[in-house]
Amino acid sequence: MRIYLDNAATTPVRPEAAKAAIDAMTVRYGNPSSSHTMGREATEMLESARAQLAEALGAKPEELHFTSGGTEGINTAIRMGALSMSRRGKHIISSLAEHSATTHSLDELEKQGFSVTRLKPQRDGSVSVEQVEAALRDDTVMVSLMLVNNETGGVTDIAAVSQLLKSKNSPALLHTDAVQGFLKVPFTVKSLGVDLLSLSGHKIHAPKGVGALFIRDGVKIHPLLVGGPHEGNLRAGTQAMPAIMALGVASQLGSRELTESLRHMSQLKAALQSRLTDEIPGLQILSGAAPHIISISLPGHRSETLMNFLEAREIFVSKSSACKKGARSHVLEAIELPPAVIDGALRIGLSHYSTLEEITALIDSLKEAFETLFKKL
Ligand code: PLP
Repeated sequence: MRIYLDNAATTPVRPEAAKAAIDAMTVRYGNPSSSHTMGREATEMLESARAQLAEALGAKPEELHFTSGGTEGINTAIRMGALSMSRRGKHIISSLAEHSATTHSLDELEKQGFSVTRLKPQRDGSVSVEQVEAALRDDTVMVSLMLVNNETGGVTDIAAVSQLLKSKNSPALLHTDAVQGFLKVPFTVKSLGVDLLSLSGHKIHAPKGVGALFIRDGVKIHPLLVGGPHEGNLRAGTQAMPAIMALGVASQLGSRELTESLRHMSQLKAALQSRLTDEIPGLQILSGAAPHIISISLPGHRSETLMNFLEAREIFVSKSSACKKGARSHVLEAIELPPAVIDGALRIGLSHYSTLEEITALIDSLKEAFETLFKKL
């Protein structure tokens, strides 16, 4: 039986969400832009999904814009947000531990004359409010920091960054990439105090290829994709109704189950970390506070070897992040971990559906790997 423990890369679509998607593909498949009955029915469905997501985020429905995923939300927020502010300044604060959607958006802005301060992450991959304060300038127009780091699970105190910007009367827009944070750490857009927030469906048991961008009421940014007047003129293109319906259901159910789900994942994470450190000599825990990401390293032993060993037992984990494939993790490098620790790193991603049996099978296999592969070396 396959044991999937790579839920920070992607999650299975929950059955209730899949059902909503099938309904939107096969029964109520109208185009929300059509003016006839089926079009109006689709508009109602679209707005009900938006309301479900808005409730899960504590946002107003009109503040949410459906996108094709985290990457598009991040590109729109950072690139268009910075451009809309460019008359006030051209300085941006971010970190060296961001997802490539952010780092490449920032690279594009640099080509257009913006200057970017990339803060060095702390040991758990997060950034402190003091670091942001030290980097803040009069011409800073955007601060973009991820809520939860996708490789380490380190949590940045975005609410404190928001308070800092307010206390300094900074005009900077605050964006957070909440792709790994949504339904993994409790928050509302108000509790974080953000202007812009991006999220992705496939990390919360909805399909790949759908996400949403929160733009706080009163913040005006230009669209990245132009065309029809969809999504309040912010994102042109016929809405991906099946995926959006699934996102609505997954966010509603995920937010109802949040307390229980966080308790469950935190218990599994604690059990996993304590058994691994007790039972595998030399194993290091690199994880931050998020309940679903466990980052470990067996320094001196290559991640690929361990991954292959686990894969042969149908246990699926990841090297550092799914986007990295062969390359060395830029996040772990930015934290300045020794090369042997980086090269021996593994990321285990839990979900609401992960079980103690799966965790036990992983621990047993890692111990077996240690005994058979490494003790011989
Ligand atoms: N940001 C973070 C932190 C992520 O982990 C990911 C996906 O791995 C993304 C952004 C990109 O999201 P998507 O795959 O929906 O484009």
